[in-house]
Amino acid sequence: MNFTGKTALVTGSGSGIGKAIALLLAQQGADVLVNDISTENAAQTVGEITALGRKSGSSTANVAVHAEVEGMFELARSMFGRVDILVNNAGITRDNLLMKMTEDQWDLVIDVNLKGVFNCCQHGARMMSEQQYGKIVNIASASAQIGNIGQSNYAASKGGVISMTKTLAKELARFNINVNAVAPGFIATPMTEEVPDKVKEYLIQQIPLRRAGNPEDIAHAVAFLASDTASYITGQVLSCNGGMYV
Ligand code: NAD
Repeated sequence: MNFTGKTALVTGSGSGIGKAIALLLAQQGADVLVNDISTENAAQTVGEITALGRKSGSSTANVAVHAEVEGMFELARSMFGRVDILVNNAGITRDNLLMKMTEDQWDLVIDVNLKGVFNCCQHGARMMSEQQYGKIVNIASASAQIGNIGQSNYAASKGGVISMTKTLAKELARFNINVNAVAPGFIATPMTEEVPDKVKEYLIQQIPLRRAGNPEDIAHAVAFLASDTASYITGQVLSCNGGMYV
């Protein structure tokens, strides 16, 4: 893909999948605004992007807070003048069985994973509609597609992301904005580091390609959907899971 002259904003790009997306877009020519609540990790990603010769900067906005997201897009406008590509990647888990789940665990996951995507899509769409150009790629999850024990909050949030993707694709098409999602399966990142080895082994046995995905696997799927090569694709969910759930 060639993103020369394009500007991207990737939420949660201080680590894991988001960092791999930000770096791949930069390697392919994009200038990238890095977002993460971790100041240190965001600065690290910015350093790696500038080392590639691209422009970068960071915002530590919490995507769950509407006013902070508004400020992040103002920063993007002042730094780059536009946002061509928005990747809504920031996400968290707070796993628990339904009957033990606390209200805080439910609220936090819905706030970050679902309201966060709403906040960013709303501000992103306002800029992109002025430009008459935009690519929004939302990071969903296989948990939304098939369910996962202990993740009622997370699966519901990601299911909401898929529904929102399909709705916004229809709503924003007239502004030349494509909205798609990538649904990762089991990916080796800091989020899944805590999964016990026995569970990891079991999960890998269920994957036809017999390995966990790596963040770059997801980044390549995102780059395709963010590119003009995919300009006639909108409202779709691209599963990227080693064949695990198909
Ligand atoms: P990760 O924990 O490595 O990275 C998530 C990043 O988001 C972190 O750097 C974190 O600081 C940041 N973040 C968290 N809350 C934020 C907030 N409120 N505002 C801004 N930034 C915030 O996780 P990851 O595995 O790279 O996950 C990235 C995305 O992929 C998430 O949406 C996750 O749900 C999704 N996903 C991951 C897997 C997997 O197996 N790792 C599978 C399916 C979907």
